[in-house]
Amino acid sequence: MINHTELAQLLFPQVTDTPEMLEERYPLRQLPEGAVVTRMAPSPTGFVHLGNLVQGLTAERMAHQSGGVLFLRVEDTDAKREVPGAVEVLINTLKHYGIQFDEGAVIDGDCGRYGPYRQRQRAAIYHVYAKKLVLEGKAYPCFCTEEELSAMREQQEAEKETTGYYGRYAIWRDRSMEDIRKALDAGKPWVLRFRSTGSIENQFKFDDLVKGKLTVTENNVDHVLLKSDGIPTYHFAHAVDDHLMRTTHVVRGDEWLSTLPFHIQLFQALGFKLPKYVHIGPLMKMEGASKRKLSKRKDPELALTYYKAAGFPVEAVYEYIMTLLNSNFEDWRRANPAAAPTDFKFSPKKLNPAGNLFDYAKLTDVSKNEIAKMSADKVYDLLTEWAKEFDPDFGAKLESDPAYAIRILSIGRGGKKPRKDLATWKDAKEYMGFFYDEYLSLPAFPEQFDKAVIASVLDKFLESYDCADDSGVWFEKVKAITEEIGFTTDMKAYKANPAAFPGTVADVSAFLRLAVTGKSNSPDLYTVMQILGSQRTTARIRAARSLL
Ligand code: GLU
Repeated sequence: MINHTELAQLLFPQVTDTPEMLEERYPLRQLPEGAVVTRMAPSPTGFVHLGNLVQGLTAERMAHQSGGVLFLRVEDTDAKREVPGAVEVLINTLKHYGIQFDEGAVIDGDCGRYGPYRQRQRAAIYHVYAKKLVLEGKAYPCFCTEEELSAMREQQEAEKETTGYYGRYAIWRDRSMEDIRKALDAGKPWVLRFRSTGSIENQFKFDDLVKGKLTVTENNVDHVLLKSDGIPTYHFAHAVDDHLMRTTHVVRGDEWLSTLPFHIQLFQALGFKLPKYVHIGPLMKMEGASKRKLSKRKDPELALTYYKAAGFPVEAVYEYIMTLLNSNFEDWRRANPAAAPTDFKFSPKKLNPAGNLFDYAKLTDVSKNEIAKMSADKVYDLLTEWAKEFDPDFGAKLESDPAYAIRILSIGRGGKKPRKDLATWKDAKEYMGFFYDEYLSLPAFPEQFDKAVIASVLDKFLESYDCADDSGVWFEKVKAITEEIGFTTDMKAYKANPAAFPGTVADVSAFLRLAVTGKSNSPDLYTVMQILGSQRTTARIRAARSLL
């Protein structure tokens, strides 16, 4: 017979705190009815990905729109995977995307009264509950070596049995006190295992906020609670931490669904109230005709750093994720174009249980709209910040004359139908680079026109150009030149019979545009010339003329 009190004392002689003391130290939170307390609990691997953001935004919205609490817990139990500085990267990246924590781990410590918020600093807390489970006969030490465990696995595989430490394979489950004492005395390393009372013959119903009603099978495996270094497994830490931190909702990836039966068992064994679960499906992409999960190895767009470098504004990524998560977000956005996205009533129940298809083209589209909605000043600030980091030469140009850059960025902004030239900050140089002499390319005039004709257009324009003209007068002058060289201004007549005309006013404008911008596409040419100013405009036309 096992003497549980003796065993608990033998395994955890240093533990003097009791669960009651911890209950008192971490009291229930005083929050209004319905307030959601949730968390992000990432491992500090240094890689922050789109999935973290999906999960983070879901948790953030659920907490903050209910008047609840969002906290950050760092799950650093796997010291091998930890990368120095990862917590800082994590906090800064999430903050950059608008996820602000009310409490939890901060860069240089903790903030909040339910800490510590880094799991490695909570070892003593886990041991209190480990001791309690041993005292109650719900956990026991297992001294199996790696070799024994892999031999067991091989045997199970050979016999086509489910692998794992359960039933007759749970060889330390009912060992005598004598065997245990002997192993302890010999200094053998041990792990603490949960004594499962579940059976795979039994199923029960479970309600997940995203997945809906699920039928799950009981767990019969004696999973590890504490590893041989006394550090808990994810499962044990999840139960203890989310209980003591008074989490009401667990928002996490659905890769945890398979161990959910064990988690439910653990909460019951510990006497904890089960939180609600929000299991989020994976992010997928189309590959050919089929869907597959986004992968760290294959898909650079999984990393959040990708979006920053690619020049997507945070607002665009945020809007896109909302579009992805709640299918009614887009309709809401159309009806409330100017509202803050946080005014939208987010619902975890609208998440697609099967996960979401990440659509780059859609993100680009959303981003175009977001940038089009911004003021020129804001675009200038964000673009400059981006360029300083990712295209310093362009950044320096933008910074050298902010007023000039803002005038450029004001073109077609505001009004009912704003221009949508930029999907990312990366597009900006191609769009507006010609305003800077160093980025101006040489014009490639269309070959079907006689060079002398083009030259005469440029000469005539230079003769008549006056930058004080308003756009009406300016265009009259362009039309006059068109007629002088025998081209037509009557586009209708031209369309009806193109062969009857050597060219049109559109061609004349194209010559001027090419001369001034080096491109065949640009915003309104009159406006471009106004921003460039008389001197720069005429110098460019002269330079282009000399090439002919
Ligand atoms: N550390 C776990 C993960 O990164 C946390 C899961 C959870 O939120 O409970 O997957």
